[in-house]
Amino acid sequence: TKVAHWFHPKDLRIQDNKGLHHASELAQSSKKPLVCVYINCPADESWHGTSPARVDFMCEGLKIMQKELQELNIPLVFLECEDRKKIVPTVIEWFKKQNVSHVFSNFEYEIDELRRDIKLVKESGDDIQVSIYHDQTIVEPGTMMTGNGKPMKIFTPYHKKWLAIIKEEPELLDTVPPPTANPSSFKKELKDLFDTTPPKPASDKQFSSPDEKKRIRKLWPPGHAAASKRMDAFLKHIDTYASTRSNPALDSTSRMSPYFSAGMLSMRSTLQKVSDYNNSSADFSENKAKSGVYAWVREIVFRELYRQTTMCTPHTSMNLPQNLKFEFVQWEDDEEGWEKWYKGTTGEPFIDAGMRQLAAEAWMHNRLRMNVSSYLYCNLLLDYRRGERYFAETLIDWDLSNNTQGWEPSWTVFNPVSQAEKNDPSGDYIRKWVPELAHLEGKAIFAPYERLPKEEFEKLEYPQPHVNWKKTKQRCMERFKRDMHDA
Ligand code: FAD
Repeated sequence: TKVAHWFHPKDLRIQDNKGLHHASELAQSSKKPLVCVYINCPADESWHGTSPARVDFMCEGLKIMQKELQELNIPLVFLECEDRKKIVPTVIEWFKKQNVSHVFSNFEYEIDELRRDIKLVKESGDDIQVSIYHDQTIVEPGTMMTGNGKPMKIFTPYHKKWLAIIKEEPELLDTVPPPTANPSSFKKELKDLFDTTPPKPASDKQFSSPDEKKRIRKLWPPGHAAASKRMDAFLKHIDTYASTRSNPALDSTSRMSPYFSAGMLSMRSTLQKVSDYNNSSADFSENKAKSGVYAWVREIVFRELYRQTTMCTPHTSMNLPQNLKFEFVQWEDDEEGWEKWYKGTTGEPFIDAGMRQLAAEAWMHNRLRMNVSSYLYCNLLLDYRRGERYFAETLIDWDLSNNTQGWEPSWTVFNPVSQAEKNDPSGDYIRKWVPELAHLEGKAIFAPYERLPKEEFEKLEYPQPHVNWKKTKQRCMERFKRDMHDA
């Protein structure tokens, strides 16, 4: 018999992978071979709307993993599955064929993925044992409770408690070793498992051009080694993170999100690196941590909280807002506005710059994500879920928890002009992504239609604003007030 680890799209690494590590330990102690498996299900990717950039990133990452595992005489087998409902029967059939006695994997917290794992446990029968580990976060989702015994949802108390836990239990950052090589005596038994080919992106998940493929791969080299290198480079300037992160022109954030969302670098090893930098201390609190560390780890804590939210409020992975009152808002049907939004031609320079960065890089700076989402559902009053889906279809770092929580509607209406003036004071971010405005000087770049003489604006080949910000803010407030109520 054999021991298996089943990789999912969020644990694509062999280093510091809990499920894989425990599988390897059992294989060693019971003197069985370790085999790994990944189910390629394009229908599942289409269901989630996964972007071509992300599918390519995962496929390339899997190729790297297959090679790394092969060096350890461990096969990584790719199974194809056409129907997402058949994932579990497909994998169980394979386990049975391979005489697998024990399967390991890591939890994914979205409702369908949790149901998949329950099904695995129920249907694998007495001959196959299943062990699933918490591996995506430092603090297990579902364990941070309020005084009333309910899962915490509010960031500030969650953050405070999280910092205290890590300070008291720095061993939570301890990493586990990569798997041990299969002994060469298993070579013959495993021979046929080494020649499955890594998946390729399905026909509807292809890049639009070879140029795009080249550009995206260069921006986001896949795999654990690339992730680790990027994290090390970021630590060299983390000290300026707090003061520079909101300025998108400075591009000073880590750009680690694609790696975290695919699990190419574990959160334990990431924070272990941060703690080494932080004078070997896991005290990441505001007054104790080195400059930049507090602010950066705070973002990681958002990521941790959002996994708890996904697990404890499953309706958030079923196309429903966390605050169900928003479900009753009657959204507008402005197709022209929608098209201008995603093409980056709304006539609001900050918004257009963000959307054009997304199209070019399959990634967008957080400040812009906040602004373009607010503009879509507050000013255009379009259903926020259209934007949420569009992000899934374009972002390389798409992550259901971060994306649905990021798109959770709220009453805050961002003003793209004052937001740009505050966060992009030089206008350089707008200059980079909206070249039609690159030559403008002074404050005209933030609101060219309002601030330039008519004849000058007309020379720009840049559209006038699709909507009046002030009036649409008013409309939004009235609509939310009118429609939001309890079920
Ligand atoms: P850094 O500033 O270097 O932060 C480090 C890490 O912390 C990030 O890689 C990410 O894992 C986490 N993080 C940072 N900000 C947030 C946040 N606001 N919420 C949760 N985690 C955070 N992030 C995704 O990973 N995938 C998404 O699909 C996604 N969609 C979003 C949609 C909207 C509307 C909004 C407002 C935010 C969204 N975010 C998403 C969160 C955030 O914008 C990105 O994580 C961040 O911009 C990634 O850049 P970075 O790696 O340079 O971040």
